[in-house]
Amino acid sequence: MPVFFENDHCVRCQYELGFNLSTAEMVGVAPSGHTGTSGVVGGPHNSTVRHCLNRTQHQVCNWTLSLADPEPFCVSCRLNVVVPDLAVQGNLDRWRRLELAKRRCVYTVLRLSLPLGASTGSRLPGLSFRFLGDPPNGPVVLTSHDAGVITMNIAEADDDERERRRVSLHEPYRTLVGHFRHEVGHYYWDRLVDKTQHLERFRELFGNETLDYTSALGNYYAQGPPADWNTRCVSAYASVHPWEDWAETWAHYLHSVDTLETAASFGIGLATLQNPSSAISVAAGGAPMGIVPFENLLDRWIPLTLALNAINRGMGLPDVYPFVIPPKAVEKLRFIHELIALSSLQSSSGFHVTSSLTPENSPETQRLIA
Ligand SMILES: [Zn+2]
Ligand SMILES: [Zn+2]
Repeated sequence: MPVFFENDHCVRCQYELGFNLSTAEMVGVAPSGHTGTSGVVGGPHNSTVRHCLNRTQHQVCNWTLSLADPEPFCVSCRLNVVVPDLAVQGNLDRWRRLELAKRRCVYTVLRLSLPLGASTGSRLPGLSFRFLGDPPNGPVVLTSHDAGVITMNIAEADDDERERRRVSLHEPYRTLVGHFRHEVGHYYWDRLVDKTQHLERFRELFGNETLDYTSALGNYYAQGPPADWNTRCVSAYASVHPWEDWAETWAHYLHSVDTLETAASFGIGLATLQNPSSAISVAAGGAPMGIVPFENLLDRWIPLTLALNAINRGMGLPDVYPFVIPPKAVEKLRFIHELIALSSLQSSSGFHVTSSLTPENSPETQRLIA
C-alpha cells in the first residue's frame, strides 16, 4: 500500500502517520496517549518521534519531531511568524492547503541542503512566513518576499480565487507550491548571489538588477511582456525584472528536482534518444538532483514533462508543465544548479544530500569558485 507525502493516516488500518524528516520517510505514529507518552513512535528505524503541535492542535501538519527536540513545532511550522486568523470561517482549510504546499517547498530546500536559518554573523535573516488575509478595508495583501519574510495572501488557497487570478493575468500555471518556490527564490538570491562573486555572472545571464523595480513592474502590467520574452525566459512574468527572472527560474528548478524525485520514487524512468542510459533509476529516498550533472537532470526533466503533459491531455486536463524552456533559460537553470551545488558543499546541514558536484570532478564548479 503506497503512502504519500500528504498522508496522515494509513488508509487501510487508520494508523496515524507522520513524516520523519531525519530519515525522509513516512512513519507510523502511535496516537496520543497510546503508550503513555504523547505521540511516541515506533518507525522502521526504531526512532522515537512525536507529532508537530500544529497537527495535534489544528491538523494542518503531518511532520514529526524527535522526542528529544525541545521545540513544539516541526522544522517547517517553526518558520511561521503569522498564521491565518482561525476565527475567520474557511481559514483553517486555507491554512491546511498552504502548509501542505509549504512543506513540499521546504522539503526540497532541505533536500538541496540550502540554509533556512540566519547566515553566519546574522548578515542575513533566516527564512520565515506570514499568512495574511486581505483586511476588510484594505490594503490588499501582496504575496511577496522582504528580507527573509515571505508573505502569502491566503486567498490564493481558494481554488476558485486562484484560478480567477490565473486567467485574468494570462498565466498558464498558478499553484500554491509554485508561489512558495518562487518566493523562496527571492530569499536565496539574497543568500547565494547578492554581494558575492557570483553577482557578475548573474548580471550576464539575467540582466542588471539595479534597474528600478517598481517602474519595471508597472511597465509590465501596463504594457504586457516584451514580444521576445519566450526566447530568454521561462515565463512572461520573468521578463519583469532580473529579480523576477531569477525567482521564476528558481521555481522551475525546484519544480524539476521535486518532480523527478517523485517520479524516481515510483520507479518511473524515461530514457532519451540522445542519452539512452539517462533513465531515472534512483531508489526512493535517494537524491536524483544531487547525483546527476546538470545535463543529465535536464535530459530527464524534458521527456518527463512531455510524457506527463500527454497523459494529462489524455484525461482532458491541462498540461502539468505548460512551458518551453529556451536555451538562454537553460543557462540560467544551469547557473542555479551550480550555485546550489556549491552551497550544498559548504553546508553543514545534517540533512543529507548526495552531490557529485565536488570541486574535484566538476569543472563548472571550479570555474565558479574561482
Ligand atoms: Zn509542523
Ligand atoms: Zn517575485
